[in-house]
Amino acid sequence: MKQGHERPVDRMAARVVGAGVTHEYSISDGAVNSFLPLPVRKPNRNEAGQDCFVDLSGRKFGRLTVVGISAEVNARWVVRCVCGSYGLRTAKTIKNADQEACCHQCHLLAVAKRKDLIRRTGKFVDTKEFLK
Ligand SMILES: [Zn+2]
Repeated sequence: MKQGHERPVDRMAARVVGAGVTHEYSISDGAVNSFLPLPVRKPNRNEAGQDCFVDLSGRKFGRLTVVGISAEVNARWVVRCVCGSYGLRTAKTIKNADQEACCHQCHLLAVAKRKDLIRRTGKFVDTKEFLK
């Protein structure tokens, strides 16, 4: 093999190789929230060959749209909220999601709006009402 002629590692591959070294967020935290797009990758041959594997890319649920498989975190999909922030979800969460699915930011905003309504009017409304 000739030295110095290896295929250059592309940027995405470099990020995958580097994953696990520095994470600005916790993997176990379900409420991952990022204002920068999170890196995604194509399903690999292993996944594509599995009968149970479903490519969820492009699927919409609630306020979220699936962008693709996370290139940095195992078994997570990158989702983008209508508000513009990105997060990670498991396939199970995406498949079982309801119409009120949203990012952490939107959820906090809905909770704040609900509290405000209670304070101003004394009216109790489900948080979900603010996510429609
Ligand atoms: Zn949002």
